[in-house]
Amino acid sequence: MVQIMLNLKPYKNLLKQHELSLTAVRLAVLETLEIHPHSDADKIFNIVKNKIATTSKQAIYKNLNALAERGIIREIKPKGRSSLYETRTGDNHHHLVCRQCGAVRDTDCFDHAPCLEPMCNHGFKVDEAEVIFWGLCPPCQKNLIKTERKEK
Ligand SMILES: [Zn+2]
Ligand SMILES: [Zn+2]
Repeated sequence: MVQIMLNLKPYKNLLKQHELSLTAVRLAVLETLEIHPHSDADKIFNIVKNKIATTSKQAIYKNLNALAERGIIREIKPKGRSSLYETRTGDNHHHLVCRQCGAVRDTDCFDHAPCLEPMCNHGFKVDEAEVIFWGLCPPCQKNLIKTERKEK
């Protein structure tokens, strides 16, 4: 495995600001999400476990919750799947999710965040629109065409 050295200093500062201790597991979780955005807890656990053999799935969940609660990471919940996490926060970008293989891609807000306005806001001051665009990613579209040809 290639070791990528990331600059974790901004995260160390963030953790301090939020009065979270700089544990090895916490930093490993953040590093994993920097390299593999939109990972779920299982994937993060498997990667962190390679570095820190003593970690548990429970510890990963606890850390993910603590980081998400403080807005250091963002949690997205595509329906029917486990939560995915990413370090790209604060810009209210949206996600494209492939219905077939589950691939996830980021897409920016159209203009300013949130780029969607409710028809009637009922007096709410809206600061976030949670949008998931569902469809088929390019490889899955190709596979679909192949299987359709085979069936003919
Ligand atoms: Zn796909
Ligand atoms: Zn994202």
